Amino acid sequence: MKGRILTTGGAGYIGSHTTVELLKAGHSVIILDNFENSDRDRVARIPLIAGAADVRLVEGDVRDAHLVADVLKRHEIDAVMHFAGKKAVSESVADPLLYYHDNITGAVSVLSAMRDAGCKKLIFSSSATVYGDPDMLPTRETAPTSASNPYGRTKLIIEDIIDDTAVSLNGFQAISLRYFNPVGAHSSGLIGECPRGLPNNLFPYIAQAAAGVRDYVHIHGNDYETSDGTGSRDYIHIVDLARGHVAAVEHLLSTSTDHAPHRKVNLGTGQGHTVLEVLHAFSRACGFQVPYRIGPRRPGDVATSLADPSLALALFDWKPQFDLEKMCWDHWNFQKRELDKLNSGMRMPHLMHDVVADHATLNGTHPSALGNRDALN
Ligand code: NAD
Ligand code: UDP
Repeated sequence: MKGRILTTGGAGYIGSHTTVELLKAGHSVIILDNFENSDRDRVARIPLIAGAADVRLVEGDVRDAHLVADVLKRHEIDAVMHFAGKKAVSESVADPLLYYHDNITGAVSVLSAMRDAGCKKLIFSSSATVYGDPDMLPTRETAPTSASNPYGRTKLIIEDIIDDTAVSLNGFQAISLRYFNPVGAHSSGLIGECPRGLPNNLFPYIAQAAAGVRDYVHIHGNDYETSDGTGSRDYIHIVDLARGHVAAVEHLLSTSTDHAPHRKVNLGTGQGHTVLEVLHAFSRACGFQVPYRIGPRRPGDVATSLADPSLALALFDWKPQFDLEKMCWDHWNFQKRELDKLNSGMRMPHLMHDVVADHATLNGTHPSALGNRDALN
């Protein structure tokens, strides 16, 4: 069954890739975004990549429940994917009230609007951070939850709010997808993640070090109980993650009842990789060794995070396809194009034939040779 889907935060990193996969699967999509952490150029590229134009943009804030309800009614939305929110752990520690206000108000607003408009299907962006430091590895959805920072606590609180809402609204169905570590970019190189300022996460940091924007990668500790002492994570290609959303929403659209009105489902690969393994794989993708130095542990980090993804397979027949090499290759391909674009001062083309032509100009040049070392700061 094809649906009309609202993606809040659909212009962001995960939302844009998911919008592409929804369009490719034949759904129509309305994006609601206030562009606080994204831009219109990325939205313009979505129909080019998807080869489909059934996507509209509403510029606005999810905390405005009247606006959300109006969008739901006007566009006769069948299901909502709620991506919009803030996501930086360190910022949430520095300013917890901002995170409680924005993330929780946003979720309450979306749920209220869904209730008022009679829209009963929701996919929510949760996170593996809700497992804290898990005893059980790989980690199943039944593992105990805990939060070690305000950002993680907002995810747990919102999951609880959805639980209560699902009990109170007859026929309401939700899936909270607990993402492990989304990385990489679309293989076209047209959309990906370009963090503003200093990256917190490993992949964008390595990409910037490879690009010459950073001098080297700081490895946060090599004395963990892992194969080489560096932290291990379950990295998942962004396109696999996006397809997990399509599978989940199609599951909701095709079922009117489920014995659990609010499911929590892991999206990970079940394969772990250490920091050094990622660094070496990224170095193979870009064709030169990315410089690094070993430093102390980062406060609050766990040694290992690893998904048991079997529930997603059982429930909506989803399993990831792409390996670490592909994640690194696609991430680097996107990073290189961003640098080329910044260095040439060009904006992205908006016509399909220009995109194809531009694509063909990709080459193996080390971007640091292009100068502009602070371009991404
Ligand atoms: P992102 O910042 O790239 O995308 C979020 C989008 O939401 C942006 O386009 C932003 O402009 C928009 N937005 C923010 N506040 C808004 C508001 N009040 N109204 C309207 N639009 C608003 O982040 P992402 O990486 O795509 O993450 C999407 C969701 O997934 C977030 O909820 C995040 O917490 C969650 N998540 C992300 C990761 C990850 O590693 N990226 C991991 C686990 C969970
Ligand atoms: N990491 C690192 N250097 C960095 C960023 C991250 O060594 O600049 C390590 C971090 O300690 C962890 C892994 O890389 O072991 C993944 O970190 P990330 O922040 O990407 O994900 P998270 O820890 O939130 O799962």
